[in-house]
This record gives sequence, C-alpha cells and structure tokens, in this order.
Amino acid sequence: MKICYIVAMVAEAKPFIERYGMKEKPGFFSPLPCRMYEAKVGESELYVVLNGQQNGSDLVGCEAASVATLSAIERLHPDLVINSGTCGAFRADGADIADVYIGNSAMFHDRRVPGDDAWGTQSLGNYAVWHRSPEVAEALGFKMGKVTTGSSLDMQPCDLEIIKANGGQLKDMEGAAVGFVCSLFSTPILYVKSVTDLCDSGTETFDEFSRNLGKACEALKNANERIIEWLIER
Ligand code: SAH
Repeated sequence: MKICYIVAMVAEAKPFIERYGMKEKPGFFSPLPCRMYEAKVGESELYVVLNGQQNGSDLVGCEAASVATLSAIERLHPDLVINSGTCGAFRADGADIADVYIGNSAMFHDRRVPGDDAWGTQSLGNYAVWHRSPEVAEALGFKMGKVTTGSSLDMQPCDLEIIKANGGQLKDMEGAAVGFVCSLFSTPILYVKSVTDLCDSGTETFDEFSRNLGKACEALKNANERIIEWLIER
C-alpha cells in the first residue's frame, strides 16, 4: 500500500517523520516549495508531503495544500491520502485540547456564493472521505467529526453560522482543499485532526493554538502511529 500524508506545518509532521526515520528527497517537487519524505514500513511505502515554506514560515491554507496534493498524487500515485494536522473544535460538542478526530466529510465554511443550488453546493464542497474511515475511528477509539475549512485562523460570525448550519465540528485551513483535489482523482482520503484550540472557549485563538501546538502534535503522532499499524495489518 502507498500511503501519502499531506501536512501543512513542520511542527505537525516532525514527530512523525522522526518516528519512522523518514528521509527527505531534496528537490523532488522543484520548483514547487513542497517537500517530500519517504520510508518503508513493512511492505508499505510511506510518504509525507509538506506544503513547504515561504519567507521562513509554513505555507498553511488551501492554495498551498491544493498544490501539494495535486503534485503528490501525480508524482506518487498513492492508494490513500491522509491529511493530518491540527484544528479548532467546539467545547459544546465535547471536544478538548489534543483530542484526535477522524473526519467524516469535509466542507468549506467561508465561501459565500449566492446563486442557485448548484453554486451553493459546489461552494460548500462536502467531499466524501475514505469509506473505511469509520472503521479506523471505531477500531482505534477516535471520535469522528466534520472537517470545515477556511482561509483564516480566526472565526467570523458568518463562518460560525455556516459551520453550524452544516453540522461542522472541526475548523482548519486545508482539509477541504485536499479533499477537493482527491475527489478529482478519485483518490481516497482519510482525515486525522488534533485539536489545538476551542473555538467557543472565549480565548484568543492564536494564543491558544500556540500554547497547545506541541501537545496536539504529540497526540497526532501517537494517533498516526496507531493508524499506520492498523493500515499495514490489512
Ligand atoms: N502563525 C501560525 C499559523 C498557523 S495557522 C504558525 O505558523 O504557528 C493554523 C494551522 O493550524 C493551519 O494549518 C490550520 O489548518 C490549523 N488550525 C488549528 N486551529 C485552527 C483554527 N481554529 N482555525 C483554523 N485553522 C486551524
């Protein structure tokens, strides 16, 4: 099995890359900023593709995630894409810091496009996940939630309205973009998201995010280790 992780931030990928002793293939995606790491785990080929950096900071967000996913699928032909990263979630849904969720679908929460149903439907996205995602969640004891994606770290009232109206539970900046590209190739996608901040905590999101990033990334690595084990046993 060829498994390809798409990850936005170095901090999110580093513990995992180290765990599997993954080696970078420098310049693999040149001239694109994406970076590729690889390792063999049993009979499986494991890849981590990072969106890359610009001016010294990680390229978070949909554009960079789309470029990374498109390039990764075209070059590596994975059997499964895993979008692993951090997210915001809601205390009201029972979420806590460093909880790990498996996505049950992915949508955009900041595309407000008036028009007929077709425009509205396309704007939201609502991309399907790998059909075995519920099995992964059940076998390993993770909660499931709907991933909602936008281009900002903060949450405006109109974002919240769209998230709530569509049953969203997790808030990130890449998930639906990765799902969109996967849908074009019919490549299955599994979402693994760890909570850095609670959108309804009343605390400033960036402070909460920064404070909890290390803890959430450690939880993310532990979750991914168990997921890889589960996948290669199949
Ligand atoms: N300047 C920060 C930027 C991080 S942006 C830094 O480099 O440390 C936040 C990243 O974490 C994005 O990749 C996004 O997917 C995820 N994320 C975590 N909590 C989020 C939230 N509440 N809303 C949106 N994205 C969130």
